[in-house]
Amino acid sequence: MVLSYSNQQFLNVAQTEYQRAWVEIDLQALRENVRQLRQILAPQTQLMAVVKADAYGHGVTQVAKTVLEAGACWFAVATSQEGVELRNAGIDAPILVLGAINSPSEIAVVAKYELQPTLCTPQQALIFSETLGKRGHSLAVHLNLDTGMSRLGTPWTEAVAFVQFVQQLPGLELASVYSHFATADDVDGGFMYLQQRRFQDAVAQLKDHGLYPPMLHIANSAATLRDRSLHYHLVRVGLAIYGLYPSPQLQPAVRLKPVMQVKARVTQVKTIPPHTGVSYGHLYQCDRATRIAVVGIGYADGVPRLLTQKMQVLIRGQKVPQIGAITMDQLMLDVSNIPDLQPGEIVTLLGQDGEQQITADDWANTIGSISWEILCGFKKRLPRVYC
Ligand SMILES: *Cc1c(COP(=O)(O)O)cnc(C)c1O
Repeated sequence: MVLSYSNQQFLNVAQTEYQRAWVEIDLQALRENVRQLRQILAPQTQLMAVVKADAYGHGVTQVAKTVLEAGACWFAVATSQEGVELRNAGIDAPILVLGAINSPSEIAVVAKYELQPTLCTPQQALIFSETLGKRGHSLAVHLNLDTGMSRLGTPWTEAVAFVQFVQQLPGLELASVYSHFATADDVDGGFMYLQQRRFQDAVAQLKDHGLYPPMLHIANSAATLRDRSLHYHLVRVGLAIYGLYPSPQLQPAVRLKPVMQVKARVTQVKTIPPHTGVSYGHLYQCDRATRIAVVGIGYADGVPRLLTQKMQVLIRGQKVPQIGAITMDQLMLDVSNIPDLQPGEIVTLLGQDGEQQITADDWANTIGSISWEILCGFKKRLPRVYC
């Protein structure tokens, strides 16, 4: 096992004995998820691993190395800083930056680290070309078409003008034209396929003008699991490589295993008398003598406070209810059913213990969020332990 306190730093500590709480990352599951996903890809399709937000909270350095070994050949990040972090970790695979970059100083960083930016508008392309002007070789760029997400990108109907504009600018080399789905995880695929038709229309118009982008891509995890006709040259897969499904309907396509588990230790156990309040605001009042356990993890670590009295944890393969308000660094459990519980015992907040499992989807469903947000919500204070 390796403990990492930040993306740059890895400590060789063989046990988590002195840790109050940590995030466990199952690199074998990660590898297997990538292999499973590759098996369903269309023959010409490559896998781009989306590792933005510190690889959805899993730790980008270890994740990047592992998924490369398992057959991913591209990376996507949200910011140039995340791209630099990957380069500093020794990754030399192509890296697409999904976010929009506008400032000349950031463009210089992109060029220096051979990152591949997304261009969303002709104005932005112009800033890039002017900033890069004096460079010897050209920078690979990816053009984003808005086909219905209404986030970044130029309207698909203006694809020809956009591509022609970029192609006549010095210093830029068109690497791909791409788009992004807004509703790929909806059961009803109507709008997703409308976006695909718009994308196809744009590509057909480009062809009519003798323009053939080297690569096309549009699929996120949901679209990748859903339909091979959406795969094109690259699929940009985030959530699924971390072992979660974008929606319950997409489960049959492949067998994925959650990569992340979140664990903490019991720090104190005690019995409180009847009619005693627990935690801030005394939300919980016991009506009989109750055995409670304090656990060393809280909302500052990434356990949403909204889960207060709506979550369970696993101890010795049993589900145990959380009681009282979740606090910044600690939370309480009713452990009356485990009379011999001792400080130091491990509590599984997310993950598997015996027959029982609690997933990021369970938390997300309880608080009206999505598993993406739960995963990337775990903070640096929790060391990542790679197993
Ligand atoms: C985050 C992101 C993805 C990955 O989405 P998942 O649903 O996690 O697979 C793909 N493409 C773009 C543009 C993104 O921003």
